[in-house]
Amino acid sequence: MEVCAVRRIAVVGAGQAGLQVGLGLLGAGGYEVTVVAARTPDQVRGGRVMSTQAMFGPALRVERAAGLDLWEGEAPGVRSVDAVLVPEPGVRALEFTMTLDEPAQSVDQRVKTARWLELLEERGGRVEYRELDLAGLRELAAANDLTVVAAGRGELAGIFERDAARSPFDAPQRRLAALYAHGVGAPDPAAGPRARMHAVPGVGELYLQPALTLSGPCDILLWEALPGSPFDCFADRPDGGEQLIRMRELMARYLPWEAELWAAAEPTDAGGSLYGALTPVVRRPVAELGGGISVLGLGDTLVVNDPITGQGANSAARAAEAYLRAIVDRGDRPFTAAWMNGVFEDHWERHARHGVALTAALLTMPGHLQAVFAAAGEHEAVARRLANTYAEPSDYAAWLAAPELVDAYLGTLG
Ligand SMILES: Cc1cc2nc3c(=O)[nH]c(=O)nc-3n(C[C@H](O)[C@H](O)[C@H](O)COP(=O)(O)OP(=O)(O)OC[C@H]3O[C@@H](n4cnc5c(N)ncnc54)[C@H](O)[C@@H]3O)c2cc1C
Repeated sequence: MEVCAVRRIAVVGAGQAGLQVGLGLLGAGGYEVTVVAARTPDQVRGGRVMSTQAMFGPALRVERAAGLDLWEGEAPGVRSVDAVLVPEPGVRALEFTMTLDEPAQSVDQRVKTARWLELLEERGGRVEYRELDLAGLRELAAANDLTVVAAGRGELAGIFERDAARSPFDAPQRRLAALYAHGVGAPDPAAGPRARMHAVPGVGELYLQPALTLSGPCDILLWEALPGSPFDCFADRPDGGEQLIRMRELMARYLPWEAELWAAAEPTDAGGSLYGALTPVVRRPVAELGGGISVLGLGDTLVVNDPITGQGANSAARAAEAYLRAIVDRGDRPFTAAWMNGVFEDHWERHARHGVALTAALLTMPGHLQAVFAAAGEHEAVARRLANTYAEPSDYAAWLAAPELVDAYLGTLG
């Protein structure tokens, strides 16, 4: 009888992507899994929020199938998003509701990744707690059959070359400010958990969504500010109390109906605020470390989207699933650089490129997309298809990618 050797897989980074692959390999059996994590679960729980992490149905299905949906009963399930266009301060113009086919969910990554990291150890994975540098990565890769770098947007991502042809921008398109809060009112409490998005042309966007954090259900608010606009007023990174004061002032001026809902709000905890600006980028998937050693990038390490369309964690989850299947299908054959390239290209073609294109379009709002939003205000079917394109961005190519496609689709509405 032929005995297959256990394959050694190393994963750098304990975020959505890295932990999902590591846990998936342990579930598949036949792998010795080492995860290098910069922080312990307690440090993650005691730290700052990292995202607003809205996850849509298709990505949640992957988690569910892997038994990683540990917060299903607790996390609010968001079925719809109320969209409002604010052409001038205090004016509500176009308004419509976008309904998702499957509920979305946001579980604070401090809650999720800390618990998944514990789970990985409980299920027999090895965790090394350290911040890996390039020399450490070389050693790790030499000692394993495959090393996957899922270190997010951290320094290690720089070893993967930027793919200029696929990278839609070379600078941040928005400045971000997020706050997790308790005590936020709902416009229609009887309607169940709903997200809200407001677009203020020339100024930015505001997203609000129910979520689950360390202290239970909460609401997350995310400002997407055009650089230099009045929403871009958090460069000094104030604490949650001061952030809330400024946010209420912005709401009172631009979105007074929201200001009322936030009158009694309070930050969830000292780590409940997040600031930043992301340069959207796509990198080449394989880095050669010399001596014939190659490593494979995953998640944000290779593809960074601005959160305006909520694609990052979803794309990381879908990529992790695709990589997991490819690793298992590889059996005991070597994980060559050509195989690594193929794994990413397949994921890029099926999924990632659509999320990148959708996000670039939403950041710049060309005329044909404005026409789609206007039509969504008139036709429930358009609003529904729009919502579900965020969830499954491959539909972008079928109806939104070019003005002719949009014209053809809108022409069918009558
Ligand atoms: C404000 C904001 C809002 C967002 N909202 C959404 C949203 O609504 N929906 C959505 O889908 N996405 C959203 N995203 C994006 C999403 O959070 C990321 O795309 C997702 O977390 C990527 O997962 P990842 O596993 O690739 O990387 P990460 O989650 O960044 O995980 C990487 C891990 O690697 C570790 N690490 C880094 N360097 C090293 C090292 N040298 N050694 C060891 N460990 C290391 C880090 O500590 C981290 O734990 C948002 C992002 C931001 C900033």
